Amino acid sequence: MTQRPTRILVDLDAIAHNLRAIRAHAGVPVMAIVKANAYGHGLVPVALHLQAQGVDQLGVAFLEEGITLREAGIKVPILVLGGIFGPQAAQFIAHDLEITVSSLDKLRQVEDAARGLGRKATIHLKIDTGMERIGVHSYSCGPFIEAAVASPWCTIKGIYSHLACADDPGSEMTALQVERFGEACTHFERLGAPMPLRHLANSGGVLHFPDTWLDIVRPGILLYGVLPDPLSQATVDVRAALSLVSQVVYFKVVKAGHPVSYGATWAPEHDTRVVTVPIGYGDGWPRALSSRGEVLVRGRRHRIVGRICMDQFMVDIGQDSAWNEDEVVLVGRQGDASITAEAVAQAAGTIPYEILTGLNQRIPRVYR
Ligand code: PLP
Repeated sequence: MTQRPTRILVDLDAIAHNLRAIRAHAGVPVMAIVKANAYGHGLVPVALHLQAQGVDQLGVAFLEEGITLREAGIKVPILVLGGIFGPQAAQFIAHDLEITVSSLDKLRQVEDAARGLGRKATIHLKIDTGMERIGVHSYSCGPFIEAAVASPWCTIKGIYSHLACADDPGSEMTALQVERFGEACTHFERLGAPMPLRHLANSGGVLHFPDTWLDIVRPGILLYGVLPDPLSQATVDVRAALSLVSQVVYFKVVKAGHPVSYGATWAPEHDTRVVTVPIGYGDGWPRALSSRGEVLVRGRRHRIVGRICMDQFMVDIGQDSAWNEDEVVLVGRQGDASITAEAVAQAAGTIPYEILTGLNQRIPRVYR
């Protein structure tokens, strides 16, 4: 079967380059975050490539993602960042996945599972320093750390927290979180226990806050060559790894005043040329780009017009020419022009994370 003309092209060399650049910049090992289908780039192929490149550790969100990686032959340590869901505890241990323990209750569940299997669990303690998501508050984490240190069934490999505002280099929140995290870590000294790996830095931390680099960094979006936020500064030389391309499947002239697509929300003022592109919100291409987003055809930027449909959308190419099967670039480069995931996100009124992770399995991935 010939595949549909819409494809995601993943530049694995760019991901390898970004890994090296981040490691050189922070000067510490890297836990590469590959959750959410490696931010849309494809979980297993990206993880296998990172493993071949000598990545220190991988991070995923859920047990299922960790099991998929183990079944695909990934041998490097994998931390599951999401809080554990109690009944799944034994499966973490059975698949040699490192567990985020985010409360005393969860610690007990993990201990029970480990005792049942007769095998110790490897855990990272999650401290809440300001995100109010999961984790024990830094100001009351003493008994939690003490219980974990005393546990015969857990090996504490790490202690970590998550930064809420590091995308913004001007954020004052990050310094506060660093301070709170430092205080939480002093409990190990107080207990005379060895200090585990301390980790804090997401991509924003890697880019802007050296105080967050500590013993290992946890970049996600930066590894794929994308900046987390319009406020972020490109302090690391990364390259975008993902392109999204399609082809023209229909060409027509639309007469002045004749509306295009559902809801008849847009019509040209003058007769114009309109091409149809076979990808839509059913693929994760946001409907919010209706009459707002742009694509590249024959090296020129053209506007998406009318509402984006589930499987198709239309583009006004004005008086330019185009023909069936011409390449259409939605994200990436064509000639001298380019459209970044960051620009798509801004046009859609969202963040690049949502654009990348939203591109779903209907779109074939091609690796090069
Ligand atoms: N660490 C944790 C705990 C996360 O939840 C995430 C992603 O949300 C990351 C690291 C990576 O974040 P980013 O993609 O901003 O680098």
